[in-house]
This record gives sequence, C-alpha cells and structure tokens, in this order.
Amino acid sequence: MVVGPEAEQVEFAAVGGGPAGLTAAFELARRDRRCLVLEADQVVGGISQTVLRDGWRFDIGGHRFFTKVQRVEDFWNEILGPDDFLLRPRMSRIYYDRKFFDYPLRAQNALSNLGVPEALRCLGSYAWARLRPPKDQTTFEGWVAARFGWRLYRIFFKTYTEKVWGVPAASIQADWAAQRIKNLSLAKAIVNALMPKRNQKDITSLIEEFRYPKYGPGMMWEACAEKLQDTGSEVRLGTRVERISRAADGGLELTTRSADGAERTVACRQLISSMPMAALIDALTPQAPPEVLAAARGLAYRDFLTVALVVPEKYSFPDNWIYIHSPEVRLGRVQNFGSWSPYLVKDGRTCLGLEYFVNEGDDLWSAEDADLVELGRRELDRLGLVDADAVEAGHVVRMPKAYPVYDADYAANVETLRAYLAAEWPDVHPVGRNGMHRYNNQDHSMLTAMLTVENLVEGAEHDIWAVNVEADYHETKSGGAPAGTGRSAPVVPAPRSTGPQETAGRPPVASR
Ligand SMILES: Cc1cc2nc3c(=O)[nH]c(=O)nc-3n(C[C@H](O)[C@H](O)[C@H](O)COP(=O)(O)OP(=O)(O)OC[C@H]3O[C@@H](n4cnc5c(N)ncnc54)[C@H](O)[C@@H]3O)c2cc1C
Repeated sequence: MVVGPEAEQVEFAAVGGGPAGLTAAFELARRDRRCLVLEADQVVGGISQTVLRDGWRFDIGGHRFFTKVQRVEDFWNEILGPDDFLLRPRMSRIYYDRKFFDYPLRAQNALSNLGVPEALRCLGSYAWARLRPPKDQTTFEGWVAARFGWRLYRIFFKTYTEKVWGVPAASIQADWAAQRIKNLSLAKAIVNALMPKRNQKDITSLIEEFRYPKYGPGMMWEACAEKLQDTGSEVRLGTRVERISRAADGGLELTTRSADGAERTVACRQLISSMPMAALIDALTPQAPPEVLAAARGLAYRDFLTVALVVPEKYSFPDNWIYIHSPEVRLGRVQNFGSWSPYLVKDGRTCLGLEYFVNEGDDLWSAEDADLVELGRRELDRLGLVDADAVEAGHVVRMPKAYPVYDADYAANVETLRAYLAAEWPDVHPVGRNGMHRYNNQDHSMLTAMLTVENLVEGAEHDIWAVNVEADYHETKSGGAPAGTGRSAPVVPAPRSTGPQETAGRPPVASR
C-alpha cells in the first residue's frame, strides 16, 4: 500500500489516551521524541478517566493511586503537585443484612455482627466442614467452605464473587483464593481475635492511605495530556484507529475515523498499542491466520456499569466504598465519592457510585438509563442505605471490557497473539491492561509503557510480559508486604455471553 502525500507522517504513534498510551508519549517526550496519541473517546484517561456529568465528577469505580514502583510514583508527582495530589484515608466495609462488617474480615467483628444464633450456626457449619470437608477443594467454593464452613462461605464469599465474575463460584479455580486468603481459616481467625494485640501479626489495618487527585483520577491524565501538548506531541481525541496495515516503505499505515465520520491516514514507524488485544488483531491488514484470529476471539472480558446518584450529605458514609453482599440486590459495590475527595462533592450533597458487573448486551447493559437509575434508587432503599425519595439526580456510564477475564484458555491465547505480533508486526508494541490482556492496575499499565519506550529508544531489552507476573519486577519498595500491587485475578470459566462475545471487581478476597 502506498502512503499518499496526504498521509500524515510521524515516527511514533500510540493507540489510546489512557494511562499506558499517555505514559508512553510522556516518556518519549522526555527523550525528545514526538508521539501522536490517537484516542477514540472524547476524554483522556481510559478506564481511569473521571466522568463529568452535570457538574459532578466521578470515577469508573474508584481509582486509588498506589504503587510499589518508585518510578511510577515519581511520574505521578511530576504531573501533579502536592496540592492537587491528595493523601486520603482508605476505608471499606462489607454490607450484609443491614450491618457493616470490617473488611478485611475480622472474626470477632463478624461473629458479633451476625448475632449469637447465626454465629452459633456458622460455628456449627465450620465444625461440620472440619468433620466432613468438601470433596472437591480445587474450586473456590470447596476451598473456602473447607476453611470457613459453608454458612460463612455463603455470606462472605459466594454472593459477591458471583456478582463480580458472573459465573458460579463452584466453577472458579481455587488457586486465586489460596493466593489471597493464604493459610487463614476460621479457627486461626478466632485465635487471632482472642490473642493479645501484639500477637496479631496477620491482621491488616482497616485504615490505610492512598494518593488521589483532588478532582479524580482523570485529573492526572488531563494534566499529563496538557503537559504533552507543550512538548509538541499531540493527543487527538475522538479518533479511533480502525485499520493497521504495512506501507510500501516498510512502515505502518493507520486508518483512523474521527467522531464526524472522516477517515484519515497516519503513517508511523513504531506503534504503541493499548487498545484491547483482540481488537488490535482484528485491525491488522492483511488478516492474521485463522488460529491467531481464533485466539483473539477467545479472549473474554467482564464489563461494568456505574449509576451515579446525587443524594443529600446525610446519606454519606466514611468508607470509600462498601461491598454489597446482600443477595437480594444486583448491586455489587457502592462508592462514596465524597470520601474519595472533598472536592468531588458540593452543596450539602454527595455522589454515590453504584457498581454493577455486567456482560455487554445483557439485560442491565441494554436497559434504558432511566430504568437503571430507578433500579439503583430502589436497591439503595431496599438495603436501607438511602431513601428512594432522597435521590435527586442520576447518571449512567457503561464501560465495556473493564476486566480482562482469565479463563482456562486465556494464557495460551495471549501467548499465540504475543508470538504472532513479535514475528509479523515487530513494530507494533502492545502495552497496558487490555492491550496485553493483563489484570493490570494503572501502575503496571504505565510500567509496561515505560519499559517499551526504553526498548525502542535506548535499545533496552526489557521483557514487558514479566511485569505483574514476576511480582517484584522492578518494584523497589519493600516492607514485608507481598511484592506487587496484588492485581491477580481468579481463573474463571468462559462467561455466559449474552451479547457480542465479551465478558471481573474485588471479591471479599480482593480483586479490582
Ligand atoms: C472498576 C475498576 C476499578 C479500578 N480501580 C483501580 C484503582 O483503584 N487503582 C488503579 O491503579 N487501577 C484501577 N483500575 C485499573 C485501571 O483502570 C487500569 O489499569 C488503567 O486504566 C489501564 O490503563 P490502559 O491505558 O492500559 O488502558 P485503558 O484505561 O483501557 O485505556 C485504553 C484507551 O484506549 C482507547 N482505545 C481503545 N481502542 C481504541 C482504538 N481503536 N482507537 C483509539 N483509541 C482506542 C480507549 O478509549 C481508552 O481510552 C480499576 C479498573 C476498574 C475497571
């Protein structure tokens, strides 16, 4: 394909103006290289954007800025000064049966909240599980029930996990629970609770701290994009990359479509891609061989929607978010943006972010916004958290492909795609979360972009696929805690698809 004279020519282009794409461009700019960032959305930040509706700013979920990677922390501090980058307390609890339970779970608090009769039933159920352990402990269900009893399993583990991943907990592999809960069991938790404080080494503090931009995570990425423009790089919003082909001169040719439908061509030498891996493979022309296309189509995702409700401040709570374990509602988690930053609330009101874990095309995904706001209102009322009449306004935001799903085939599929790209498209560099189909937080998404730029400009030979796998890869802070920011994900069966083949949050054993 010949690149016409009308084609724009750049050395570096990045697909996606989320954390990975913007970090790549920023690191290139630091090395005096200009990068054209092509972003399909009208705002930067990707999943880490802050949505602005009717004067209210809220996150897709809540985004903590927490990392053990010093260079990521330095990057954030370079973009936002201390007045804009707040240090915030973290608090989150589990809500079940109209009561708040400490999270992480604490035996004494859990059993006293449940009340004597239910606590006795839970202890009986635990004793039974010790006598007659579940036969199959290779599943999440069997593994947890063996250590906590069936009753506690159903209250604190099953419901939320199923809401987040959309599959029966009995079909989720045990390794993930084993990794998260380690060797804790109800008996050990009770011994811990009864021990004098100095012996409670296993118990994580309920309150931690994290950094957070005063106007939400999007503020970081909006400021990053502004700084980039000052360096001569460009962030082009509303521009979707639809096709990637090989130009006659051996470079790459990108076909983009802007929001008004106009098609443009951009020629580049190196492409850093944070678009979902499956979509990247689909965009490549000529088409990849059938086995590669099959691997791309085999990648599954879990999607997400948030219903942001404006309510009077009296309904505020100190938690950043609450896990909703009550099985009678579909709501998975409620964020209180007022607890994230005082700058996100106004006029005696707060904004609550109701989180629903969905599959693209399912009933919730396809529901009218007004019906979703109504569902949110009713569910908060039913839970006893907010009176339905007190809700003043509601906004709905859908985020497709919020979570890359780890099913039994995902690792093999990703390896097929990685090998194909390396062999046939060595100038296309996948980075980030969906870009690598990796359960990365912002920091690991950014790190893959930083290392890619070093490979490209300085001839380094970093293996970006080792980030977030070798947990302590390039992580310099230590302190007894497990290495990595801990974004592992469970292996789940391929999701039941209701829409286009797509298809995970933070179960009690954690996941976001
Ligand atoms: C509910 C939830 C809570 C989270 N909480 C945290 C948290 O507390 N802390 C944390 O650090 N991380 C958190 N994360 C993870 C964080 O959101 C991601 O790690 C991060 O946004 C990934 O950055 P990225 O640039 O790789 O991808 P993305 O954020 O997905 O950005 C990719 C960008 O590419 C664009 N794009 C896609 N296709 C095209 C195309 N064809 N052409 C042009 N542009 C395209 C998209 O529009 C998007 O803007 C959370 C995620 C979720 C879902």
